[in-house]
Amino acid sequence: MKPMADQLFLSEEHRIFRTQVRKFVQTHLSPNVDQWERDKTFPREVYQKMGESGLLGVGIPEAYGGSGGDLFHSTILAEELTRSGSSGLGASLGTISIAMPPVLIAGTETQKTTWLPKVCSGQWISALAVTEPGAGSDVASVRTRAVRDGDHYIVNGAKTFITSGTRADIITTVVRTGGDGFGGISLLAIEPDPPGFHVSRHLAKLGWPASDTAELAFEDLRVPVENLIGPENGGFGILMQNFATERLTLAITAVEMAQMAYEESLKYTRQRQAFGRPLTGFQVTRHKLAEMATGIDLCRTYNYALASQIVAGQSPIKEVAMAKNASTDMACRVIDQAVQLHGGFGYMREYLVERLYRDIRIFPIGGGTREIMNEIISKTLG
Ligand SMILES: Cc1cc2nc3c(=O)[nH]c(=O)nc-3n(C[C@H](O)[C@H](O)[C@H](O)COP(=O)(O)OP(=O)(O)OC[C@H]3O[C@@H](n4cnc5c(N)ncnc54)[C@H](O)[C@@H]3O)c2cc1C
Repeated sequence: MKPMADQLFLSEEHRIFRTQVRKFVQTHLSPNVDQWERDKTFPREVYQKMGESGLLGVGIPEAYGGSGGDLFHSTILAEELTRSGSSGLGASLGTISIAMPPVLIAGTETQKTTWLPKVCSGQWISALAVTEPGAGSDVASVRTRAVRDGDHYIVNGAKTFITSGTRADIITTVVRTGGDGFGGISLLAIEPDPPGFHVSRHLAKLGWPASDTAELAFEDLRVPVENLIGPENGGFGILMQNFATERLTLAITAVEMAQMAYEESLKYTRQRQAFGRPLTGFQVTRHKLAEMATGIDLCRTYNYALASQIVAGQSPIKEVAMAKNASTDMACRVIDQAVQLHGGFGYMREYLVERLYRDIRIFPIGGGTREIMNEIISKTLG
């Protein structure tokens, strides 16, 4: 039987789209994922292949080189990319979904027609640079400064943990153009141009090895004024709109990772014998599986309900924060249980649950930590 979320929220057209994406993933991504994880990178041509299939431009209007679709198409895309076996690969391929919405929300017509077709086709890679070595959760305290000099900004500062940062061709960058606090923040599209721009480090990580994560430095980098996205000192609000869909996508991805861990556990515990019976012959195993399935189904249905509200034009900020915490905590728990059910094999590199265990740890941190989500939720308590 299809999950409740699928029955309640997806149309036949969404299901056809899922079949198309799954075919792409199974043909072009899954067979290579293990190698790319070992290589700690993947070929740049994958972006072009995704672009040719119309999968990079999901959610972006056709007029700007995208393939249209609603938030459920983006949801399906995130889920199916995760099913490639590497959520890190999905994160890198998906940076368009965090880097380009500000252009769609607040960009000029010229910015949209110049940049979006290049990114949707895979010719360009995009990234979003918010976090700095000294400012992560506290976005309003970023220190990268852009000072107006005629028809350019002169940018100085550093960004860290930037997904797709080492090879991005356009980076939506949070800069300070005004005074302290959120009212002095702007968004600037930076087209990496040495020597003012350089990648100071390619960062090694606990999980997501195939995904590129970079530290970037700007030293007297000249950026044309036309690259300002939205009004000067008006970047914070645009960024907050962006965070809602990023956080929901992280929640949706975490649920899919839990789903995969559950499927692996079900298969494994049905065939693994101990004390003369399969592991599913023990009630404690069956109950663990039951609890996994329950958490997954509840979180998926809640996340899809929020996607449906966003499609209808609502902004469920508090609920998205709740969804991110509930989904990522559930997924961490389910994946931990999956490793336990696999015994020593769960600790081995060749088992998918081992990768899921490393990869899931970023989810309660990235895109706003668990504690920051709780801050958002607690501000609305009566
Ligand atoms: C693999 C990876 C990919 C990433 N990709 C990107 C990217 O593409 N672009 C980008 O801009 N960033 C990216 N990030 C950065 C990520 O969004 C930040 O790491 C995250 O927002 C947390 O910021 P921080 O690391 O500076 O932690 P800090 O803000 O220093 O937080 C440290 C701890 O203090 C807690 N804390 C902070 N403030 C409070 C508070 N008010 N109340 C209670 N507790 C608090 C936090 O919850 C956390 O537990 C990525 C990070 C990783 C690891």
